[in-house]
Amino acid sequence: MKTENKIPAFGDMPVDKFKENGYKMIDWIANYLSEIEKYPVLPQIKYGEIKNSIQKNPPLTGEMTENIFTDLDEVLMKGITHWNHPDFMAYFNSTSSGPGILAELLSAGLNINGMAWHTCPSATELEEAMIIWYRKIFNLPENFWGIVYDTASTSSFHAISAAREQLSHLKIREKGMAGRNDVPRLRIYTSQESHFSIDKSVVALGFGLESIKKIPVDNKFRMISGKLKEAIEDDKKNGWLPCCVVATVGTTSSTSVDPVDEIGTICKNENVWLHVDAAYAGTASILPEMQWIFKGIEKADSLVINPHKWMFTPIDYSLLFTMKPEVLKRAFNLSSEYLDTSKDKLTNFMDYGIQLGRRFRSLKPWFIIRYFGVEGLQKRIREHIRLAKLFAGWIEDNREFELISPVEFGVVCFRAVPEKINSQEALDAFNKNLLERINQTGKLFLSHTKLDGKYVIRICISGLRTQEEHVKKAWNLITDCYQETIKKIRRFN
Ligand SMILES: *Cc1c(COP(=O)(O)O)cnc(C)c1O
Repeated sequence: MKTENKIPAFGDMPVDKFKENGYKMIDWIANYLSEIEKYPVLPQIKYGEIKNSIQKNPPLTGEMTENIFTDLDEVLMKGITHWNHPDFMAYFNSTSSGPGILAELLSAGLNINGMAWHTCPSATELEEAMIIWYRKIFNLPENFWGIVYDTASTSSFHAISAAREQLSHLKIREKGMAGRNDVPRLRIYTSQESHFSIDKSVVALGFGLESIKKIPVDNKFRMISGKLKEAIEDDKKNGWLPCCVVATVGTTSSTSVDPVDEIGTICKNENVWLHVDAAYAGTASILPEMQWIFKGIEKADSLVINPHKWMFTPIDYSLLFTMKPEVLKRAFNLSSEYLDTSKDKLTNFMDYGIQLGRRFRSLKPWFIIRYFGVEGLQKRIREHIRLAKLFAGWIEDNREFELISPVEFGVVCFRAVPEKINSQEALDAFNKNLLERINQTGKLFLSHTKLDGKYVIRICISGLRTQEEHVKKAWNLITDCYQETIKKIRRFN
């Protein structure tokens, strides 16, 4: 549809047009969120459908915004996976919230670049203030300094960079690692259940994948600290230099919690950097009854928590805390003439990482924490844990299903174990089939994982809009799909 072009020859969209479209956009988002349950959680489309519906050439002259709104409804909405949907219970579901959306809008409106303090004092100082709020909310030690990055993958990359820099006698920052015979192989230890972002960091930092030692886990999927100790001792005998241990609080598959306290003692004795990856589960420490997850955290050198996973923060927002900001700074600080911050006695976040430009991300927690209040956030997170345990109870009461891992947070790992299906392969195939059937309904989105070699279905309750009725509905759907899968098998036998 072509309409008369009223775009001005120079300058921005006129103020009255901006207001008109802005109100329309807010209405659009408000309607979307209030009617979200009418959409299937997963889009029912094939690869290429969306791309092929987008005009092939960029418009030479400006188009009316009405056209853009129309295409939003008619083209893009067909390919949206509804992460805000109360029936989205896959992965670590991250949902947005009204205050978070408003903060994102304001961030684009102000469009500051917080690379250094003087390029936007409010951005740097709000970020510092929010770090202190989070530290209090999560009851973390006061000597944790913090910085915000986009994702946990990036936060962990920076933590492991600092761990490498801590081995300052190797002068890796200046000389690199390649072509030198005065640098031993460096070792990174993490559990078999840790997130692959750690492996990626190790690749990017030039350690090589061989340098990761995956420590075995116990029957609750927690790193066995005795095995870590053995591995470190073995390595030292064989010429490896231990560099960093990554413990996970809330592993991605089963949300198991590594014993940070015991691991921390080993790291202190060996003088090895301890990084704790609590990307998802760290948020739970907002609850007094969940603070056990961070027992021994004062022994950690760094810690990552993602408010964009379970704190109703629109993606992205990842917090990296460290006891040793000076080491992180040593790893990344470079001055340039045009942005010379070398004599500043204040925080310039550009000195603590890869990125120079910085978004005004901390507007998000400033809106979200103020709007809900700490108690409001606590209630919501406590409710998610309650719902997960309720769901786990239904699994335990049903002989055709089994729980695969303990439920501490909002995640339940389970599988169907129909009578007469005994082999591991047949059970895996059955559960895979069951999950496909569930997701094809469009009424619920669950994901899967492998635990102990078993194909396991995984439900995550962390959506802001997910309530008990949704969890009940999910369980009914799962059992219905189970019956259908059983019937289908009978037909083939
Ligand atoms: C989700 C997750 C990550 C990766 O998070 P991103 O922010 O997407 O990079 C890392 N570690 C753990 C334990 C996670 O659950």
